[in-house]
Amino acid sequence: MSSNGIKRELTWIVSTASVLLLFALVTDQWVLSLFIFIISYIARQLWSIRQFEKWMDSRLKNRHPPVTGFWSELTYLVSKKQRALEKHADLNLYKSEQFKAASMLIPDAVVSLEKHNRIEWFNSVSKSLLGIRTHDKGSRIASVIRQPEFVEYLKKNDFTKPLTVNSSYRPSRTYEMQIIPYFENHKLLVVRDITELYQLAQIRKDFIANASHELRTPLTVLRGYLEVMFDTPGEHQEHWELPLEHMQTQAHRMQSIIEDLLALSTIESESITAEKEKINVPDRLKQLEIDAKQLSAGKHQFFFEVDESLEMYGYPEPLKSLFMNLVSNAVRYSPDGGNIYVRWFGTKRHLVYEVEDNGLGISQEHIPRLMERFYRVDKDRSRVTGGTGLGLAIVKHVLEKHNASLQITSVLGKGSTFRCEFPLSLAH
Ligand code: ADP
Repeated sequence: MSSNGIKRELTWIVSTASVLLLFALVTDQWVLSLFIFIISYIARQLWSIRQFEKWMDSRLKNRHPPVTGFWSELTYLVSKKQRALEKHADLNLYKSEQFKAASMLIPDAVVSLEKHNRIEWFNSVSKSLLGIRTHDKGSRIASVIRQPEFVEYLKKNDFTKPLTVNSSYRPSRTYEMQIIPYFENHKLLVVRDITELYQLAQIRKDFIANASHELRTPLTVLRGYLEVMFDTPGEHQEHWELPLEHMQTQAHRMQSIIEDLLALSTIESESITAEKEKINVPDRLKQLEIDAKQLSAGKHQFFFEVDESLEMYGYPEPLKSLFMNLVSNAVRYSPDGGNIYVRWFGTKRHLVYEVEDNGLGISQEHIPRLMERFYRVDKDRSRVTGGTGLGLAIVKHVLEKHNASLQITSVLGKGSTFRCEFPLSLAH
């Protein structure tokens, strides 16, 4: 096609020039012949330009415009490019239609938001779950879903975790709302009805909390009687001394497990929206040092390296548990004479609470599972040292509450370091 255009143009020039040359030879009108040639060439080009314009105006519908010469070459290149673009646009349209069709089948509400959080499109579930109507397209999502927790979530602009709320549109239902940023500042809001799941989790948590609570009183009574029996010498005192001692140890263990289970369920059930408080961490660590030395009974050496000016926002009781649990583990899993370092400092990106010991250490295969409830590397050792198997599970929950993370580095026989990294946003 491209060489045809040039060929046709050359053919026209050669044939017109030949006719005019013949005319000039016969009539001896050389200037007139040249003039005719130039005029007809210009006229031909002007006509082609006009045809080309018409073709462009008709949005390239006519694949072969009635243009000639070099212009046909140009129209060929333009229409080729156009065809490629159309194909691409068709493919994009197909893909976007396919995506919309798939989103209609999802049992969750899916709402696409543009960069100013205005609704672009939504699937049919959004109508029943969130009450979004067709006329809401183009409205800001915060004026359609007016739930205060959601508006706050949107404002915070931190979408690493979903938001769990009781729906204000359908008050008896619980929703999990997650915003997922995508494509050039756009966002996808995905809302799921998790009422049944939430109720099940709640029943489980309540059961553990209630059972622990119910066991607490009878156990206190039993421990009381055991103490009285132990302290009151009677007949066969020698015979009963050892069993009584065992009973006391086991009762003490049971009480520790119950206390830890209660602590865990309190941390779990505390509302996510509860306000964090300003905590004077250096002061807390001074008290911790006293408690740790008491627990160690002089068997370990402590080194507290604390940035005295560094305070943070957080939940006081859970944090106290976290600080103590890591130090208590370091004491319990380090032989006598061990060194324990407790550090509190800031880096460019985090607030760091770190506990390092030169104790037993943990082999690598256990590390990923340490934070599971009742997971113990060495059951006997844990029992002997009064462990409940819940300490690190509590630590994990406290960290989650503060959007913090834990790094464990350990070498068997050499020691371990537990490093908690809190986001800098919690710094006071
Ligand atoms: P436990 O009450 O048994 O100590 P934790 O949840 O606190 O339970 O810890 C889980 C397991 O991790 C422990 O059983 C222990 O084997 C291991 N562990 C925790 N801290 C240390 C440490 N500092 N050094 C060695 N092992 C540790």
